[in-house]
Amino acid sequence: AKSEGGGSAHAFTAQMRDSLQRRRLLEVDLRQALALREFTLAYQPQYDIDSRTLVGFEALLRWHHPERGHVSPGEFIPLAEDLGLIVPIGEWALRTACKEAVTWPLPLPISVNISPLQFRNPNIVSMVTSALAAAGLDPNRLELEVTEGALLLNSEPVMNIFRQLKAIGVRFAMDDFGTGYSSLGYLQKFPFDKIKIDQSFVRNLPDSGDGVAIVRAVSALGSSLGLSIIAEGVETEEQLSCIRQNGCLQVQGYLTGRPLAPAAVEALVAAEKAG
Ligand code: C2E
Ligand code: CA
Ligand code: CA
Ligand code: CA
Repeated sequence: AKSEGGGSAHAFTAQMRDSLQRRRLLEVDLRQALALREFTLAYQPQYDIDSRTLVGFEALLRWHHPERGHVSPGEFIPLAEDLGLIVPIGEWALRTACKEAVTWPLPLPISVNISPLQFRNPNIVSMVTSALAAAGLDPNRLELEVTEGALLLNSEPVMNIFRQLKAIGVRFAMDDFGTGYSSLGYLQKFPFDKIKIDQSFVRNLPDSGDGVAIVRAVSALGSSLGLSIIAEGVETEEQLSCIRQNGCLQVQGYLTGRPLAPAAVEALVAAEKAG
């Protein structure tokens, strides 16, 4: 379709075919990636803005493909969810995060993402309990990040999973807050500990009046409900001072720290400990 120009139907279908083909090839490799030990975790630091102290890390999956190099989670996580592979891959991520966190020089909290498919599985409670025990990690240090897609408003089984994990000391953060349909409903129903303001609301600060209003409203909501609030995706000093001025006390973003390899995390925590 060389001579037909970018906008043609042929170019479009060629593009569709290429991306379908890439998806099929990735699918074959993704099925083997766990056995071939191609995953690692990167840890992104979270800070208290005023004191500049480290308050925790979020564990993020990384896939190092032998030929393609780094494949982004934005591409392989949805694929892993479609294939059901997110259940074993997510379990690997949780177990690994717990094991790595116990080696840190300070007992900081560790946040791990849990996909809806994992959270709907009744085995999640024993899986989390077993990961904590195997690592020897204090359950109070573990925070699970769930999106509202993982929850159901009137489901007793889902509520029970949430309650059982809370009962052993595990904390919960509502991830990507504000991007779903009924964030407030879920917040009222489930005993969350933290709200993560999605980066889509942060991206256009301080120019976006709506963004400012959202950060201010969510921060006020959090403080009246006794929840901590953290803003994601903060890349500039202007965004940082804007979220702070609007009541958000914690930050996670490229400005304050990119996701780090385990060795760099150890060094950062050691430096924090030394003061
Ligand atoms: P998320 O949970 O919302 O994670 C935050 C994403 O924002 C991460 O992307 C992080 O690297 C990125 N980020 C952090 N600060 C900034 C910033 O200042 N600017 C910009 N532009 N981006 C920033 P990443 O690592 O590519 O992960 C993408 C998504 O993949 C995650 O979004 C999460 O939904 C999913 N994911 C990653 N690891 C896991 C996992 O272990 N389990 C599950 N179920 N999902 C995961
Ligand atoms: Ca997350
Ligand atoms: Ca998020
Ligand atoms: Ca997200």
